[in-house]
Amino acid sequence: MNLANLSGASSPDPTNPQCSAKGCRADAVWVLAWNNPKLHTPERRKTWLACEEHREHLAQFLGVRGFLKDVVTLEEWDSRVE
Ligand SMILES: [Zn+2]
Repeated sequence: MNLANLSGASSPDPTNPQCSAKGCRADAVWVLAWNNPKLHTPERRKTWLACEEHREHLAQFLGVRGFLKDVVTLEEWDSRVE
């Protein structure tokens, strides 16, 4: 995490979401919906955003822990969430 960058950053643009992978600033294309049963109620969904490059990596990270519930494109996710 680079604090110098953060302090100078303008507020995030909600129309241009970025990948959740560490250090990645690529535009997000995918939404990974997940749930940690130890922390969250079953209906609860946490989301990570991923670019094309990191979707596999992030999905695997969640998948091996049994947290991953869904992987959809950002476009589809937005159309689901009213
Ligand atoms: Zn990325």
